[in-house]
Amino acid sequence: MKIGTRVIRAGLSPTTQGEPFHTGVTFAGPYHTAGDPASSPYTYGRYHNPTWTKFEQALSELEGGTAVSFASGMAAVAAVLGTTLQAGDVIVMPSDSYFAARLMVEDFFAKMGVEVRKAATAGNKQLQHLDGAKLLWLETPSNPGLEVCDIATLVKAAKEKGVLVAVDNTTPTVIGQNPLALGVDFSVASDTKALTGHSDLILGHVAVRDPAWGEQIRSWRTQMGAIPGPMEVWLAHRSLSTLEMRLERQCRNALIIAEYLASCPDVTSLRYPGLVSDPAHEIAARQMQFYGPVISFVLPSREHAEGFLQACNLVIEATSFGSIHTTAERRARWGGDLVPEGFIRFSVGCEDSDDLVADIQQAMDKVRQSA
Ligand code: PLP
Repeated sequence: MKIGTRVIRAGLSPTTQGEPFHTGVTFAGPYHTAGDPASSPYTYGRYHNPTWTKFEQALSELEGGTAVSFASGMAAVAAVLGTTLQAGDVIVMPSDSYFAARLMVEDFFAKMGVEVRKAATAGNKQLQHLDGAKLLWLETPSNPGLEVCDIATLVKAAKEKGVLVAVDNTTPTVIGQNPLALGVDFSVASDTKALTGHSDLILGHVAVRDPAWGEQIRSWRTQMGAIPGPMEVWLAHRSLSTLEMRLERQCRNALIIAEYLASCPDVTSLRYPGLVSDPAHEIAARQMQFYGPVISFVLPSREHAEGFLQACNLVIEATSFGSIHTTAERRARWGGDLVPEGFIRFSVGCEDSDDLVADIQQAMDKVRQSA
């Protein structure tokens, strides 16, 4: 079956007379559990929930492995780091990954005695740091720089050295890029972003090829209590069914907008892996099915970037990305990323591309005239 069909049917129960296609949400703390707990499929809400079961079945089908849902993307990141790393182990991180993942490694795991080696995503620079490592952490395309590394090449080198590999697959989602199919051990994502895509929840997941790791990841979730809310999971499962339609539209819009931005005199350092002229395009084309909703570019100064964002009417100034709503932000306002003051992370939504380009064009013109 094609992916457009699979996302709509993933995790649904067989149709039953008089029953909805997508069963309602189950809210539960304890479940009625008389006598031997082993006789009850559900006992206590921190351990399991039927709404999670269905969503995880859907994610597992799409990932091609065992998926475990978490309260947030960061909870999913923590689960992989927490189950794989011990004092004395080495992790190889991208120096340009999502800043909070780097912060977690520095603030907690490094202090517990894990050695952290960092290298750039572009040019597969992490290859040079694998000797003696326990875990190779990749993020491709990287947030916010949109650099790309060659997953299959890195996996091959890591396997030869006995190193586990995790990919933060947030930007493309599982249908834009499938890390487990490329040999990765852990596929991690913030489902807050394009996977759910409606700017209305926080969620994450981990998927693994080896069911034994799945057990450990699940047990981490139970013991740490990093569990997702059933309502969020139900909404996520509903949103998942439109993922292919949303992503298809977002990526089509993103290419049109990136091509427009390439012609803007004030724009430099434009990045979108779907642009044939992008330095990452060749590798991206080999391993991605969708190039994702995020574009990045640089405007001449902080003031210019702020003026541009203020002048937009349709583009909502907000952090995060991947939603049906087009959003953008001046990334340097947070600190944490090594980006110029005028760096814009632009997340393309599902609005009409003519309207979006017209809005960007009027904002670019307005800020240029007042500069
Ligand atoms: N990974 C990446 C690449 C992200 O961009 C984010 C959030 O922006 C996360 C992980 C963390 O996700 P969450 O905010 O759902 O915890």
